[in-house]
Amino acid sequence: MWLDAGPGTLGNLQKHIEIEQLTAVVLTHEHADHWLELPVLYNAIRHYVMCGQIPVYGTMGTLELAKQMCPALDEAFIWNVIADKSRQTIGDQEWTWAQTDHYVETMASRVDVGQSSFVFTADTGPNWDVKELGDSVSLAIAESTFLSHKEDEGILHLSARQAGELGRKISADHLVLSHLAPGEDRDQHQIEASEVFDGRITVAAAGDKYSF
Ligand SMILES: [Zn+2]
Repeated sequence: MWLDAGPGTLGNLQKHIEIEQLTAVVLTHEHADHWLELPVLYNAIRHYVMCGQIPVYGTMGTLELAKQMCPALDEAFIWNVIADKSRQTIGDQEWTWAQTDHYVETMASRVDVGQSSFVFTADTGPNWDVKELGDSVSLAIAESTFLSHKEDEGILHLSARQAGELGRKISADHLVLSHLAPGEDRDQHQIEASEVFDGRITVAAAGDKYSF
């Protein structure tokens, strides 16, 4: 599963699997940093890999934009529109989506495999309640875009402190902070989150592995 296809991720994905081993792609929303390598995958499937259509689970807004960049979209992808409360079984994974508090329709994801679970917030402001995706999560990857001094600006993203609160709310065994804005101080993100959440916290880095 390839969850969000932001710039640079297709190259990283191929360090682990071949394109033809990909089961499906999930795209949380239409902002460019979350899906713009899908047209690159489209080219690869149609002209080089010839692996047949790959299922994509994405929002309606992302589909509309993808159609403009991938004119024969149906030849490369089987698009399944996801919305608030959508559910899907993919292999041994149970996926559930919930709409967050963001500028465009955006889906946070929960994945359950046996007794283990994983939540990815995608992008959200503080008014989304992560408990819509349940509780007692093994791994939570939360956006943590800036530090708490910017909380008053009404931006629909989370601070590191708010990401820590989110981890506490769902009793995450492991909280990973991601989506830091360019130039953010990684150590300060770790410190702010740890002031409100006493579980394990990691600041995400490309190439790291997080199990659940
Ligand atoms: Zn966004």
